[in-house]
Amino acid sequence: MREAYDKFQSNTSGKNADYIPFLAQVDSKMFGVAVVSTDNQVFSIGEVNYAFSIQSISKVYTLALAMEELGADRVFDRIGSEPTGRAFNSVTAVVEMPTHTGNPLVNAGAIATTSLILGKDANDKWNKILDFYSRAAGEKLTLIDEVYKSEAATNAGNKALSMLLAKYERIYADPFESVDIYTKQCSVGVNVIQLARMGATLANNGKNPVTGEQVIKAENVPYILSTMTMAGLYDGSGGWAWKVGLPAKSGVGGGIVAIVPGKGAIAVFSPRLDEAGNSVKAQRGHRVRG
Ligand code: GLN
Repeated sequence: MREAYDKFQSNTSGKNADYIPFLAQVDSKMFGVAVVSTDNQVFSIGEVNYAFSIQSISKVYTLALAMEELGADRVFDRIGSEPTGRAFNSVTAVVEMPTHTGNPLVNAGAIATTSLILGKDANDKWNKILDFYSRAAGEKLTLIDEVYKSEAATNAGNKALSMLLAKYERIYADPFESVDIYTKQCSVGVNVIQLARMGATLANNGKNPVTGEQVIKAENVPYILSTMTMAGLYDGSGGWAWKVGLPAKSGVGGGIVAIVPGKGAIAVFSPRLDEAGNSVKAQRGHRVRG
């Protein structure tokens, strides 16, 4: 880990996400790596204290929660699991794909997945999601309010996706309410060790290695990992599978978590992204998109 860290620390390729204004001004030099094993050994190096926004990595855990509530079959029927081969926020994918939602890890499919979460009102649904993420991490996580506000003020694209989904009857609660909850879930803060712990819960068949709680039903874990393999790095997923081969998920906050089933998880944080929206350094300098 130290070798990889030293080798890539000075890499300055890529650039911070700037379509969310807050993310544009995050210190792009930050770089942290953490490994958490299924028996909760922790190895880390670099920036391990900074809480970055989880962004799209949240999609994995909302998918897990939806499956806890509805079962894998119903989630599959309502969302599907096909690669889009397009950018994570693609509008044309919604129009052209037979399922419209694509899969739970692109924005449209993720917003639809968030809309599946049951609750008496928006606040109830959001609290349930935050609590579920916290249980996956083994400690209380919180919303980064500045990220939420910045993203909520600039998320017209996601609102448009939600209305398109409504046209195809592929969103299952109020579209804008669902986008708002989705925007909150993307604004949850995690440091790189917390993210690796969330990953280790998946590596450990859904059981949190710190608290011992079975957060995700073991039977649902293979569906989550296969979806991550297929679409975790969006239209960079094929190259990642070719070169790295681990189920993983990226977020435009600069995080990537990769799962080694039965052994543990590796999380990396570094804000500069490639053109697919995946952290450059977290891919260890590989160019995974052909
Ligand atoms: N919140 C971001 C968005 O909706 C998440 C995207 C990502 O991390 N790729 O655009």
